[in-house]
Amino acid sequence: MALRFTNTLTRTKDEFKPLEEDHVRMYTCGPTVYDFAHIGNFRTYMFEDLLRRYLRYKGYRVTHVMNVTDVDDKTIKGSMAQNISLNEYTDRYKKAFFEDLDALGIERAEIYPEATTHIPEMVKLVKALLDKGIAYAVDGNYYFSIAKFPAYGKLSHIDLSGLKAGARISTDEYEKESASDFALWKAWDTADGDVFWETELGKGRPGWHIECSAMSMKYLGDSFDIHCGGVDNIFPHHENEIAQSEGATGKRFVNFWLHSEHLIVEGRKMSKSFNNFYTLREILGKGYSPLVVRSVLLTTHYRQQLNFTFDGLDAARNALERYNDFYKNLGDYPGGDSSGEADIVINRMLAGFEDNLDDDLNISGALGEVFDFIRDINRLKAEDNLSAEERDRAIAAVSKIETVLHFLKKEDGVLESEIAELIQKRNGARKNRDFATADKVRDLLLERGIILEDTPSGTKWKRKI
Ligand code: AMP
Ligand code: ZN
Repeated sequence: MALRFTNTLTRTKDEFKPLEEDHVRMYTCGPTVYDFAHIGNFRTYMFEDLLRRYLRYKGYRVTHVMNVTDVDDKTIKGSMAQNISLNEYTDRYKKAFFEDLDALGIERAEIYPEATTHIPEMVKLVKALLDKGIAYAVDGNYYFSIAKFPAYGKLSHIDLSGLKAGARISTDEYEKESASDFALWKAWDTADGDVFWETELGKGRPGWHIECSAMSMKYLGDSFDIHCGGVDNIFPHHENEIAQSEGATGKRFVNFWLHSEHLIVEGRKMSKSFNNFYTLREILGKGYSPLVVRSVLLTTHYRQQLNFTFDGLDAARNALERYNDFYKNLGDYPGGDSSGEADIVINRMLAGFEDNLDDDLNISGALGEVFDFIRDINRLKAEDNLSAEERDRAIAAVSKIETVLHFLKKEDGVLESEIAELIQKRNGARKNRDFATADKVRDLLLERGIILEDTPSGTKWKRKI
């Protein structure tokens, strides 16, 4: 089946073909580093991780650019409130952002350009718009004239009939009702403190929208394949990006626009006032592992709202245990006879996994195939109908889908020999009826993420998820 995505621009599921044959160029809107990122942000970044991992699975080379917004109203306000420089303030959240990405197993983009080091590119773009008569200046501020760009509204499908000619807005975020000429460059004023750049446009700083137009085109070219963000980015941010880029170049900016629906918490919009607002760090601090959070963020289709619940985290943990136990036990299985069924099961899973993801990244369908496969291979094992070669092909199939899912527990530094030694020590203590020592060893292992299980055939262990 051909790879298809729902394109916000066309409102239909369209077959995906990159502009260059084997190479996908994609841009995803990144964090504004004024605070720790929240789990809603990571819902969007996780969808983008699925997208880039799956494109690579399909054999494409991917060049992925994600911006870091390190100058805007919120970062300036934050740094001034703490009386530190803008850089010092944003550095802390930049670092935290990358730590969080790593914790969640989100693959790194190829390039993370920062707004503050790309001011000349933004100035150049504003000047191109001025030269074409699409931008104009008022008191050192520069605005985009939407009346000069007839295609304005093509992404968000907004109705411009009620628009007042010449109305202007300077804030970066606003509702559709306030559609109007928007700021490309903002003249310095006292509220900006010592944050400004002296440029050919005068003393000031860029608007948020111009940042993404300038940095995406710098690294990906005037026209590229995919642009993503959460649904809140459609208007005004992405609408404005199209206007700026296509206004300046006269070329089509992006072929595919993909947007993820928002995450809500326990059925309600996430908000500090509802007391249901969480950063990733807060969720991990409650004892949930990053892998469990990864699984919850990944496994709802990106075009559906994700209802994040604590029950959902527990269910995800069980499914992950099943997947990990399966993989570990398969590795320990010596192999038996072959009934020839295993290859059918393996191939059916791989084909189903791909068909589902080809269909607009249907992750639930893909996972359904994976869990059917686990059930069937376990059955073949129990029936002694899985040969060593078939076992190895089943392991290879899991390794293949793992490049997309990334659900296997990582080694956590506790060596198997160390574990075996401690289990022996515990068994010795139990033999001597020294249960205090035996329990102490069990707790010590548990603290290090190792769970013991006493079975008739001896003590087994596994890593906690
Ligand atoms: P921001 O830092 O607010 O610009 O957001 C960064 C990214 O997170 C953008 O792509 C937003 O669309 C996305 N985002 C913000 N809130 C949510 C949410 N509750 N659920 C999913 N994505 C979100
Ligand atoms: Zn952006």
